[in-house]
Amino acid sequence: MINTKLIKLKPDFDPALILPAAEAIRSGELVAFPTETVYGLGANAFCETAIKKVFEVKGRPQDNPLIVHLSRLGHLTEIAINIPQIAYDLLAAFAPGPITLILQKSDLIPEIVSAGLPTVAIRFPSDPIAQVLIKLAEVPIVAPSANLSGKPSPTQAWHVYQDLAGKVPYILDGGSCDYGLESTIIDLSVADPVILRPGFITALDIKDATGIDVIEYQADRSGIESDFKPKAPGQKYRHYSPRATVLILKENSDPGERLNNLLIGIEEFIRNKISDNNLRNDTTKEILVGLFLAEELSKKVNIEHFKKFLYNSTCYKVKFKLESYNDQQGAVDAAHDLFNRFREFDRIQADLIICSAEQMSGAGIAYMNRLGKAAAYEI
Ligand code: AMP
Ligand code: MG
Repeated sequence: MINTKLIKLKPDFDPALILPAAEAIRSGELVAFPTETVYGLGANAFCETAIKKVFEVKGRPQDNPLIVHLSRLGHLTEIAINIPQIAYDLLAAFAPGPITLILQKSDLIPEIVSAGLPTVAIRFPSDPIAQVLIKLAEVPIVAPSANLSGKPSPTQAWHVYQDLAGKVPYILDGGSCDYGLESTIIDLSVADPVILRPGFITALDIKDATGIDVIEYQADRSGIESDFKPKAPGQKYRHYSPRATVLILKENSDPGERLNNLLIGIEEFIRNKISDNNLRNDTTKEILVGLFLAEELSKKVNIEHFKKFLYNSTCYKVKFKLESYNDQQGAVDAAHDLFNRFREFDRIQADLIICSAEQMSGAGIAYMNRLGKAAAYEI
């Protein structure tokens, strides 16, 4: 067990507070730190033994490559080769920020970083703590999300603490992450640039800002074979899953029908659980349902009616924790809060989580992608 130090950093933090963590990175130790997307688990990108620890600590499959985080353009030409002009154009428009580029890698990047691929993923985070850490460490930093593999990515320091206390020497606490979802990943190593993982920056944003055409994210391949070498391994692994079963409440232009689908979905879940034997003969157990719904819809939910209906039809008492998001600016709010809600619902030991679907545009594309990876089915 390692003694984990949590270093709280206010917006006007003194960079000297980060020095011991930067020193730890240089000497091959791991440091968890905030970025504007999610918290990262950092290691020196040139140090193979440090990177091995990242995989070990997270329980991350070895064929899932890591993103290299940089603080200055000078480092880019050290770790990537044959960099196309479009990479510089995208960086000029969106970096520092939540955008990751896949480029051909140089020999300086150990194979373990790229999981044997000839490419490397690079990103310039905009979070000031991340920037100071990389600058002080004087090396590029690999930083996958600072969670145990398979769990929702951490968007607050205490999420990291839950997963990694005793496993890393430092957690830098910068509060809640600005975006709350991982970066947009764009593959520039192919003839037609393509989004491999959707994020807050969409193909449309890129077209608007730069005139560059990139192919929008295409939904995951289903029925993944085990020898499928992932280009963006998010395509291969189940991700972001809370302990509770997650369901997606499909869109519906008729709110009444949508609420009915919600109620029937909960009823069916309870019936399936009963037949699974998990609940049989234990009607004293209360079932806890976490709801994460668009504000307008959440206002229409009649919890007392739901409880009564479910008790009459299943004999189980059902409790609800209702959380909503503002859906006025697309799904920005939904995307920002999703992982935090997953963690909160797990903490209160919800049995079931139901999240409303959002339209596939703007932040909605990334929100539906992460929700889809966590969910069992749609109702
Ligand atoms: P994480 O930081 O845990 O969200 O994961 C980083 C993600 O970056 C991986 O799951 C991959 O999808 C992606 N990635 C990293 N390196 C590469 C690469 N060379 N080619 C394609 N995708 C990559
Ligand atoms: Mg991750």
